[in-house]
Amino acid sequence: MCGIVGIVDAGGVSLPLYYALYALQHRGQESAGISVFDGERLRKHKGPGLVAEVFDTETLRGLPGTLGVGHVRYPTTGANIPENIQPFNFQFLGRSFALAHNGNLVNTRELRAEFEQAGQIFCTTTDTEVIANLIADELRRSGSVEDAVRSCMGRLRGSYSVVMAFEDQLYAFRDPLGLKPLCIGKMPCGHIVASESVAIDALSGTLLRDVAPGELVRIDADGITSTRIARADRVAHCIFEYVYFARADSIIDGVLVYDVRRTVGQKLCEEAPAEADSVCPIPDSGTAYAIGYSEASGIPFLEGLMKNRYMGRTFIMPTQAARERAVRIKLNPIKKHLEGKSIVLVDDSIVRGTTSRRIVQLVRDAGAREVHVRVGSPPIKAPCYLGVDMPTREELIASCRSEEEVCESVTATSLHYISLEELVQAIGRDGNDLCTGCLTGCYPVAIEGETDRSRVVDFIDETVQLDLDSFGETC
Ligand code: AMP
Repeated sequence: MCGIVGIVDAGGVSLPLYYALYALQHRGQESAGISVFDGERLRKHKGPGLVAEVFDTETLRGLPGTLGVGHVRYPTTGANIPENIQPFNFQFLGRSFALAHNGNLVNTRELRAEFEQAGQIFCTTTDTEVIANLIADELRRSGSVEDAVRSCMGRLRGSYSVVMAFEDQLYAFRDPLGLKPLCIGKMPCGHIVASESVAIDALSGTLLRDVAPGELVRIDADGITSTRIARADRVAHCIFEYVYFARADSIIDGVLVYDVRRTVGQKLCEEAPAEADSVCPIPDSGTAYAIGYSEASGIPFLEGLMKNRYMGRTFIMPTQAARERAVRIKLNPIKKHLEGKSIVLVDDSIVRGTTSRRIVQLVRDAGAREVHVRVGSPPIKAPCYLGVDMPTREELIASCRSEEEVCESVTATSLHYISLEELVQAIGRDGNDLCTGCLTGCYPVAIEGETDRSRVVDFIDETVQLDLDSFGETC
């Protein structure tokens, strides 16, 4: 997944970039980085670990400038090696630019092979470097960044939200299907483009709107220019952002994530009521769903598991054994709330099933009489090729098991997944405008060996100079 941010601010950007990355930390904990342009040169600082581990006052002071980009990484393609930590800074024909990317291309191999055949060498194993090369390739011909991005977008297949500091201009563009989120905000002395609106909130900014699918936005001291480069017949926003990935307090493509999760919780109760003493979330991702379930059922919401907030997400751990151990350190049962009780245990999703099985066991060991598991996503049946770390079909517990079999496998008293119809309705969009690949096995882009319902993408050219104050109204 990853989180990206770009900021133009007359008051300096290193500190705002740092705070914005802090707000996006949930999108990636493997590494963090910032690149800043000071009017003459690009400087960067990046490293493995959490934002607070990578940066301190000293490093931020060493990044002066009024325009820059930042990145938090969660690995999807490319190995966990220092070379792959973003943003990447490039020098090309006397010009320099920095680029940060969230998403996953599905044609990286072909594109990279093309460059390598032509003698190009690469410093990383990421698809992001391929994007940079495509941009540089066209820049060499036309010199215009807009033309370069247009030509680049014409070659890319897959998901990409990109921010790019190109000397004294900030560019942001989003793939024609809008797979990954990207939004724009206004701050007292500048503008911000970020994966999620919580980064704008962290800087006391105002969310203006989302970057439209297929749109390129340029922000500099003179204003904002929007170029619509591509338009698809249907978009394909990632459904898993609403289920799990985004923060509940983010507004993505006009929808507050918390509302979706709470409504799904209410619908879970309608679809699968249970007689129980309390509704207990698996924190934090199950909380909004559990609140919804409690509201609809009238069963009290009561926390039965306390989360150690100083641990990362357990699936980030490299081995299955490490992941299993981590669950116990991460969650501590409140025995008094569970002993002798019948519990509705609510989580956002079940992926491999390891976490659910361990947690059900934890709740039972604490004395719960019955554990009714309710899940905020439909069964995850297929891998994700577009940016979420969804493993192979063999590792996905629901890929070849019925709801009853999953229930048995995680040792729950009863188990129910929300239906796809109710989830889509809770998001409030036409289901054809969402990517549901991990739930249906049908993807919005062609992927070898998989079924697809590819979107038709037209390349167009609509450039508008936007008035800074009316920008929010020009969706
Ligand atoms: P497990 O079923 O053991 O794979 O753990 C699933 C839990 O981890 C879910 O309840 C989510 O909170 C979280 N999760 C979300 N996305 C992923 C993912 N891509 N891979 C693994 N776990 C995830």
